[in-house]
Amino acid sequence: MAEEWVGPCRSCGRAFGEHEKPDANGWCAACRARVVRGSTRLAALPTAIVFLLFFWLITWSGLLGSRFMVVWLALAVALAFVAFKVARRIAFDLLRARASRARV
Ligand SMILES: [Zn+2]
Repeated sequence: MAEEWVGPCRSCGRAFGEHEKPDANGWCAACRARVVRGSTRLAALPTAIVFLLFFWLITWSGLLGSRFMVVWLALAVALAFVAFKVARRIAFDLLRARASRARV
């Protein structure tokens, strides 16, 4: 755990109010929300690619006609979900690093 940041937001430079608390990186809630929104948008593309690739794979291998089709589709959704979590995490770090560099 990093030591608690005191001072203005590291991203936008806005001073924190009495009841506001910076996050572990010294960012205000508005800046953090902006990065989370941006990374969610960015993560949508790799998620769609992973899902479509897997979907194409099960269609191509003829598994869609099998009795276990539901299992394969559930697996595709689970895989896409994991891809989304990972992609959003990476996008979040990238966006935050870029924003932090720009203001130093
Ligand atoms: Zn801020």
